This record gives sequence, C-alpha cells and structure tokens, in this order.
Amino acid sequence: MTTTRRTSQLARTDQPQAEAVIDLDAVAENVRALREHAGPAAVMAVVKADAYNHGAVPVARAALAAGARELGVTTLDEALELRAAGIEAPILSWLHTADANFGPAIEAGVELGLSSPRHLASVVEAARRVGVTATVTIKVDTGLHRNGVAVDEWDDMMRDLGRARAEGSVRLRGAFSHLAHGDEPDHPGNTEQRDRLTEAVADLRRRSLTPEVVHLANSAATVTRPDLRFDMVRPGIAMYGLTPIPERGDMGFRPVMTVRARVVLVKKVEAGGGVSYGHTWIAPEDTTVALLPMGYADGIRRNLSGRIEVQLGGRRCPQIGRVCMDQVVVDLGPEGGGVEEGDEALFFGDGRRGEPLAQEWADELGTINYEIVTGIGGRTVRSYVGAKGA
Ligand SMILES: *Cc1c(COP(=O)(O)O)cnc(C)c1O
Repeated sequence: MTTTRRTSQLARTDQPQAEAVIDLDAVAENVRALREHAGPAAVMAVVKADAYNHGAVPVARAALAAGARELGVTTLDEALELRAAGIEAPILSWLHTADANFGPAIEAGVELGLSSPRHLASVVEAARRVGVTATVTIKVDTGLHRNGVAVDEWDDMMRDLGRARAEGSVRLRGAFSHLAHGDEPDHPGNTEQRDRLTEAVADLRRRSLTPEVVHLANSAATVTRPDLRFDMVRPGIAMYGLTPIPERGDMGFRPVMTVRARVVLVKKVEAGGGVSYGHTWIAPEDTTVALLPMGYADGIRRNLSGRIEVQLGGRRCPQIGRVCMDQVVVDLGPEGGGVEEGDEALFFGDGRRGEPLAQEWADELGTINYEIVTGIGGRTVRSYVGAKGA
C-alpha cells in the first residue's frame, strides 16, 4: 500500500472537527422581520436555554442591536449570565422554585416572573434583605395549566401584591401568559387565552395594580395573530430562523445555525462489505465512504441512522449504517466524488449551499426543529460569523 499524502506534508489546522456556526447577521435579519410582524408592539427576544443553544450573550447582543427591546430567559442563572456580560437591557426570567436565591437577581435588576403567592413572598423577603425594590411581572395561567398563577390563587396573589407594592418591596412591571396552541393559529384556545389575559389585566387595573406591559405571543402568534400582540411579543424559534409552523414553510426566516464537520477518513469499501455497528448497511457495489467525527454524543440522534443526508463535495450524500457515539459514515459512491480528507461536510444549515435543514431532521424524527438545534452539543465547538462589533 502506498499513501499519497503523509501527515508531515499537511498544513496543521486549529479548525474544529465538529462545529456549530452561528450567523449573527441571520439573527439580525430575523429580528428585523419579527419587528415588522410585531407592528407597534415591542419585541422581547427569547434567549433561554443558551439562546436555544446558539449562545445567549452573542445572540442577545445581535438581537438588541437589531431592535429587540427586551430579553426573556427561563432561569436566574441565565439572566445573571447576560448581566455579567454587561447587557443592560430589561431581562425577564420566569421559571424558579419558590426557595430560589432571588437576591442577586433583584440586585442585578432582573425582572422576575411570578406564578404563586409563595414565589411572591420569597421575592419580597429577598427584596427586603438586599434593600432593593424587586421588579416583578405576573404570569397569568390563561389555560396552558403549566406555569402561571392558578385561578384559585389569584385573589391571594393580588392581595399580597398590593401589600408588597405599598411597602415598596416590589414594582409591578408587567403581566404575561403563554399559549397552548400558538402553532395552530386558528385554534379557538388562542382567542380564549387572549380574552382571559385581557380580563386579568382589567382586574389588575381595578385593584390599582396596572401593569406597564402585557404580553402573550410566541413566534407563531407573532406571525399569524396580530390580535394577540398586546404591548410586546416574545419570539424565540423564529429569531433562530426556524419555522414555528412547518406546514407554513419557512415563513421568511433564515436558519442561524450551521452544523458542519471535517472528513476524518476516506476509504474504499468492497461490494458486500457492511458498514458500522450491526452492519445494517451493506455496500451494494464497490464504493467509497467518508467518516465524519460527529455522533449521538454530539446531537446526531441514533434514530436518524440511515435517514439523513450530508452536503459534501457539492452534493448530498446519504449517511449509511448506524450513527455511533462519536462518528457517522457517508456513502460517496464508487468514484468518491473528489472528496478528500479534511473536506467540510454540512449536516444542516440555511440550505443555501444545498445542505439539509434542521427541519428535515425533525421531520425524520417526528419531533420539532427546536429539539434539533438545542440537541447539538457534546464536542461540537460553537463559532460565530456576522454582526461585526455586536
Ligand atoms: C420559549 C418561550 C417563548 C418563545 O417561544 P417560541 O415558540 O420559540 O417563539 C415565549 N414565551 C415563553 C414563556 C416561553 O417559554
């Protein structure tokens, strides 16, 4: 056997083997499109879960630069990470246990979404302790029956909120709720939830607890239901360029995350040779395969085995055999298509180079695109392009 290239002749590279490239210009474009959809309503960019695994700090900066007014996260730690990075925009955090350590968030001016009198009491206690008024937003359960103040606790919540505000331990910033059927624009539940939120706000007003901002709409509702906008919309997934309603296509948003890997090995497999664990794929003819260094530990779900394609050498090549923990194999065909070790393979991206979309993986798995992008991880290195200076 002769080898045509020896490693000593290769240029060394620090380029990661497996990479998630985040295009911050696409974030900006998507935020601008969402602002158009939002009309007079402000945009709160939802950057929970590390910005749906796109990187909370850079995405938040890009979104704010493109005109998002506020940021939304789930946990106190997520909010404090943004503050630690020097981001001063309003940040709302909405999922906490009642015994959470609210003090640092109150001191950092993080707005707290509250769902029960226990949560309010805990925030009041923390506000007194740190000597800073806590900014709070009431989460109203208008029908999702998940987070939010339950109907039977509403009166107690209002009484306690009135007292807390009177003593100066809280300032009421907003009231919000979350839709159960946002991705089904014509579902009657959306209108019911809108009306319940309107009633809750009217009740707050009657009690002289008028909120400064009211919000309900996620991405899907922002695009499809102008009547649910209230003062602000809270898009997440559309900002990352993925459609919240696959039946309606891409809705004009551009995918932000591209997942790529570099070819580790190119080799021949003879007709009849099995590839990867269990030999679930047998070469029907002599062929050439490429090995890519990403597997289920990096977010390529094993259930995708043999069901995805990879853009490589200017065309789509089928992934063959089982997805392993660290690697997958793709079939390049008998001639190999000129693919060489070190070449770049695209697992998914915005489709402009012919590569698959995250949506295609979601369709194969019977899940939603949210789960695909948040699932990329393991050894995948994140990098950023676009939005210079953001
Ligand atoms: C995640 C989330 C959003 C954003 O939803 P998308 O469907 O991604 O637009 C908005 N509001 C709340 C309360 C959320 O938890």
